[in-house]
Amino acid sequence: MKYQAYARHNFHSIPSYGRLSQSQIHTIKIISEILPFKTNNYVVNELIDWDNYQEDPMFILNFPQKSMLKPAQFNALSEMVENKTSKTELAKYVNELRLSLNPHPAGQLEHNVPTLQGEKLTGIQHKYRETMLFFPTQGQTCHAYCTFCFRWPQFTGLNEMKFAMKQPNLVVSFLKDNPSITDILFTGGDPMVMKASVFEKYINAILDADLPQLKTIRIGTKSLSFWPYRYLTDPDSEQLLHIFRRITDRGIHLAFMAHVNHYRELETDAVQEATTKILGTGAQIRTQSPLLKHINDDPQVWSTMWQKQVEMGMIPYYMFVARDTGAQTYFGVTIEQAHHIFNKAYQQVSGICRTVRGPSMSAGPGKVRIAGMTEVKGEKVFVLEFLQGRDPEWVGKPFFAAYDPKAQWLDDLIPAFGESEFFFEKEYNKLLKIDKLPGPTLKTENKQYA
Ligand SMILES: *Cc1c(COP(=O)(O)O)cnc(C)c1O
Ligand code: SF4
Repeated sequence: MKYQAYARHNFHSIPSYGRLSQSQIHTIKIISEILPFKTNNYVVNELIDWDNYQEDPMFILNFPQKSMLKPAQFNALSEMVENKTSKTELAKYVNELRLSLNPHPAGQLEHNVPTLQGEKLTGIQHKYRETMLFFPTQGQTCHAYCTFCFRWPQFTGLNEMKFAMKQPNLVVSFLKDNPSITDILFTGGDPMVMKASVFEKYINAILDADLPQLKTIRIGTKSLSFWPYRYLTDPDSEQLLHIFRRITDRGIHLAFMAHVNHYRELETDAVQEATTKILGTGAQIRTQSPLLKHINDDPQVWSTMWQKQVEMGMIPYYMFVARDTGAQTYFGVTIEQAHHIFNKAYQQVSGICRTVRGPSMSAGPGKVRIAGMTEVKGEKVFVLEFLQGRDPEWVGKPFFAAYDPKAQWLDDLIPAFGESEFFFEKEYNKLLKIDKLPGPTLKTENKQYA
């Protein structure tokens, strides 16, 4: 099968175009001015249920929806497009709207970018002691775009690909400088859009350096769901699988971190064959997904998905809370709902599926899991814990936030029991200053001291 992409300029040529309503076509035109839109022949022909596309999770995952913008924003933009407003004026409004969608959550741009001999390594993020994220330049797009994506500024040119880096030798130097790093995580975009020959250059540099500290190479990817033919019929699919095999033959753990939002993504023949091929290289497949209103905000979807994954030889890994960026008002669920959905799903599966952790918020101080809701001395509270912390000492310590039925993110919470701050806040703010990083401190601070 040959890969065919459809985006804003050519979506009228998708085979199912005739099934889209006029208003949906208009929506795609308008919303894709702001949020990047891209789909492909696999998603369109094999994943989306066109008989019921308006409610179909695969359609919502990939095609712009009207309520991703506020009605006033949508209408204003729509008028500008209809009235053929000048390019510069349109671009100005588009930019304004994009900035209103919090394009850089959790200080992604400012924080976690390390230096090597005084030089900023913009393609690396090092936030947690053991794991470094690596953003190879050639892996910063995707086979199709998720409508909820928090990396969307990368696809719109809004952050000029500040994360990307293409020198394999810098990765190796950085690893040598930081012997605490055991895991390197290739991420993007999607590193599996890279040609096998390009991916191989990075892997060769890492393998040739023979670093005893390096235990795991992870690949964060949506390719299995959005383009399983990457492992079946692409001209370099055999070569790619061969590189996987070389990694595992060296005794390095290869963790294929598959981004899967719904069990429907696991049902096609192509995805099942691709899974078998990947597992055949000695890699393990771990799965992760955010929790998304309109797509998977239903315990049944998660329990079915985890069971299906285990059946296929995958290991459920993370459930994330949707990030505070982009169309978050469309996709976001409250912390209370997230806890409820996770728990209900978790209770319905056997222990084998309970390798999954969540619901987790990837916030400035770390990955914070909503461990539960309870009452302590008559006060209703959320029980939270760090799964990952900017300071590893924070991990695993339970802490408490006042119950708030509207809260959607860590920033919305304040400490329980009338305490003035969370246990980690002083140190977190100190760490930010040591790194000479400008804000953001937690909003809870502002709430209390403003
Ligand atoms: C999630 C994440 C990691 C990996 O964390 P694990 O708990 O080891 O999976 C590493 N770096 C960043 C910035 C992350 O958000
Ligand atoms: S696959 Fe990941 S990076 Fe790519 S569009 Fe989806 S969420 Fe964004």
